[in-house]
Amino acid sequence: MTPKKTSTDTGRQDQIIAEARRHRKQQEQTYRAKALNIYPHICARCGREFSGKKLRELTVHHKDHDHDNNPPDGSNWELLCLYCHDNEHSRHEVAEAYTETAPDVEQSSSSINRPFANLDALLKNKEK
Ligand SMILES: [Zn+2]
Ligand SMILES: [Zn+2]
Repeated sequence: MTPKKTSTDTGRQDQIIAEARRHRKQQEQTYRAKALNIYPHICARCGREFSGKKLRELTVHHKDHDHDNNPPDGSNWELLCLYCHDNEHSRHEVAEAYTETAPDVEQSSSSINRPFANLDALLKNKEK
């Protein structure tokens, strides 16, 4: 009986992160193409139209801000120009900052930049 947990776990986590990043990128290209197929190439906020080279400035925004929520009918997508997209997200970040200062997570505020902070918590719970 050899326990599966070894010191190579840290290396594996790096691998998982790299894998997740690559996956995210692939996914992004896929849903962007789909969204551009479904919707007219117009910013949903300011109404500017984009075509040719300018199309790069049109981004796919997730209405619920969950980039993993990509229903094929496009109901979670909104085409926004870079400018409006930025606005949308800075507003959301402010809202998020408020919810994250809930009393019981005050100590873990340093974990904001750690993508696997939640995973760590889950693993710790399991070990209890
Ligand atoms: Zn716009
Ligand atoms: Zn967005």
